Amino acid sequence: MRYLPPLGRVVFLLTVFGTAASAQEPAEKKGGDPQSAPAWTLSAGDGKFEIAVDTSDTPDLTAWARDKLSPVLVVWYPKIVELLPSEGFEAPAKLSVTFRGDYRGVAATSGTRIQCAAAWFRNNLEGEAKGAVVHELVHVVQQYGGARRRNPKAKRAPSWLVEGIADQIRWFLYEPESRGAEISRRGLERARYDGGYRVSANFIDWAARTHDASLVKKLNAAIREGRYREEIWGELCGGHALAALGEEWKKSLVQKLGVADGGATLAVESSAGVTKASDGAPAGSASAPGDKAPADDKSAGWKNLFDGKSLDGWHSFGRSDVRPGWKVKDGTLACVDPHDAGDLCTNDRYDWFELELEYRIASGGNSGIMYHVTDEAKSAWATGPEFQLEDNAKAADPVRCGWLYALYQPPDDPKTGKPLDATKPAGEWNRVRLLVSEKLCEHEINGVKYFEYVLDSDDFRGRVAKSKFHTMPLFAKTHKGYIALQGDHGEVAFRNVRIRAVPAAKAPGAK
Ligand SMILES: [Zn+2]
Repeated sequence: MRYLPPLGRVVFLLTVFGTAASAQEPAEKKGGDPQSAPAWTLSAGDGKFEIAVDTSDTPDLTAWARDKLSPVLVVWYPKIVELLPSEGFEAPAKLSVTFRGDYRGVAATSGTRIQCAAAWFRNNLEGEAKGAVVHELVHVVQQYGGARRRNPKAKRAPSWLVEGIADQIRWFLYEPESRGAEISRRGLERARYDGGYRVSANFIDWAARTHDASLVKKLNAAIREGRYREEIWGELCGGHALAALGEEWKKSLVQKLGVADGGATLAVESSAGVTKASDGAPAGSASAPGDKAPADDKSAGWKNLFDGKSLDGWHSFGRSDVRPGWKVKDGTLACVDPHDAGDLCTNDRYDWFELELEYRIASGGNSGIMYHVTDEAKSAWATGPEFQLEDNAKAADPVRCGWLYALYQPPDDPKTGKPLDATKPAGEWNRVRLLVSEKLCEHEINGVKYFEYVLDSDDFRGRVAKSKFHTMPLFAKTHKGYIALQGDHGEVAFRNVRIRAVPAAKAPGAK
């Protein structure tokens, strides 16, 4: 994740909580000695609340849950209860947080029970793990399901708002320093107040700062009491209707980001100086994106993403460094410890490009190349489409190598009656070509073209709607992002990784 210079969110945090909001009191513990026990109960809010934590299914997470997560639970559950009051409402006095090895996704709350997917947490302990639980704590306090009991005519609040409130508390109050709900220049084009999660959180936070500091409190009470209607935004925000507020918010983002025109002409936005003229160049001399590529590739505009010696130019998803499971090994970029690797992202973000690389996968291994990955979701695959890599002979995933995960697969090979397969056996090197352009995307393995598709086409959107990605509002929505190599399903190595920009299709009337 990129950290931008602070803008004063912390001040907002302090005005909400008085002083020393970030100081965490040590957890009071009872119910056995959690030093060794896999399950324990925390007392919070001067004994008003009991939070049961259970890691018996995932003992490797016990120490983290005890030392790192428990203090957050004890401090933040009572805080969230205070942030979201409504008349006559008593927040649940008992809740539970359970880690499950077989659970997929990130985390989910039903009533007062929070369940956390161990696999995701293992990969995010140093990053977003605690914040994800804070988000779920908000759901425990929200209890919006009771609205219809109080008011049979109650309209269900839109999920962008319910999730937006959870993410506003998480990103702007719990961990403002992470700037996890910032909207980037590229995210700007698609930023909508009802975009969900972080995007809506950004909107809600802006509306609270601009129009009514207790906006979240008031919205929460209205939803919980079954009084929420869209018109309430106008009533709370000086007569501005929701759609108008959305426009106002976007204008403020444009101002803040200093974006003169949204249409970037360079395909590669670089943080590594690829597009910068060299120091000795005369003022005003332009420099093409390919200027710093190795001499032999210069004419074709290729840029190497891996120098064979270092992990320069890469970071692990959700953090600024590279997790220890990724190493340079014998001149390859290798995932040597899938338990401590996670997804490895380029530092630069790419919109339209041609990518070539070679991969070698271990027997039974499963990996993938994701593109247009942003920091806006909890995992890389929740934003970026994935070119699947796997050992077609032994891997368990029915999605085969070269397929666009859960969306496109090659036609059947008449010789075998099975989908086309140009891969070599596990342990051998294979060549991948991935073209991602505005007009057309192509997948190729060892020189054999598998299929093509068009992002945002009706066909593409229809397939997304029928796939597991339909529940992920940010999936394939931003057409610029990191390229990410998946590293949590087995050993895999990459080499000769190179990329070149593909010109954007000119919009009618564009210069
Ligand atoms: Zn949620």
